[in-house]
Amino acid sequence: MREVVIAANWKMHTTPSDAGDLARTIASRTREAGVTRVICPPFVCLAPVRDALAEDDHDVAVGAQNVHHELAGAHTGEVSAPMLAGLATWVIVGHSERRRDAGETDALVARKVGRALEAGLRPILCVGEQLAEREAGRATEVVDTQIRGSLDGIDPAQAADGGLVIAYEPVWAIGTGRNATGIDAAAMVDAIRGTLDGLGWGESGAGLPILYGGSVTSATIGEFMAEPSIDGALVGGASLKPDEMAGIVARAGITARARGLAG
Ligand code: PEP
Repeated sequence: MREVVIAANWKMHTTPSDAGDLARTIASRTREAGVTRVICPPFVCLAPVRDALAEDDHDVAVGAQNVHHELAGAHTGEVSAPMLAGLATWVIVGHSERRRDAGETDALVARKVGRALEAGLRPILCVGEQLAEREAGRATEVVDTQIRGSLDGIDPAQAADGGLVIAYEPVWAIGTGRNATGIDAAAMVDAIRGTLDGLGWGESGAGLPILYGGSVTSATIGEFMAEPSIDGALVGGASLKPDEMAGIVARAGITARARGLAG
């Protein structure tokens, strides 16, 4: 049975002085057997969040929101995968805000996925179409291209062993309050599984968790978790609110129990 994952993307919010308290509160309010929880704060908050989550045996992982595709060098302001050792065990790669703000291409994202896996970081690879692409009936083709490009050169067995997770995040649903329907999201997740299969990923692809992301809240998570092919959520805005996270993880816990993951 595929893992159930709820990952929090705090984006450019929180500071080193308040992030630890928020992480501690969320961790204590989301104890739910069988659900893998991850908090991805800004780089400068990784250490305080790690320290806060180490208290009380909180079983919540820490993730970065980005990683550079080179190991070291003249790249002012960047952070490489080896630098994250001891700070994070997960990393988001290819988020649409980075594709938009930093011009990240699929080829670059594939190098980041590779660096993350080499360094023992679990990558959350984000893909998703723009509104115009969906309206033009090209959503599946766009996501298929992104998956192929963003996993180019990645060894399926290494990706599966390294805990790769994919997040389907339609760009028009991120931070807009506008969701995809559960049915549409599940159809895209199935299409992603079809792409992996077509790439010859076989069992390595079939076991990968695929999440939905895009304005998920405690009120909407049920629609996505009710879909058997969706394995959790990447949550942005609502992940800064402990009440919201409590509701989201509680609903994910129902799916985890139904999948026999809670024992
Ligand atoms: C995200 O940042 O990945 C995201 C899905 O954001 P939001 O939940 O705010 O749409």
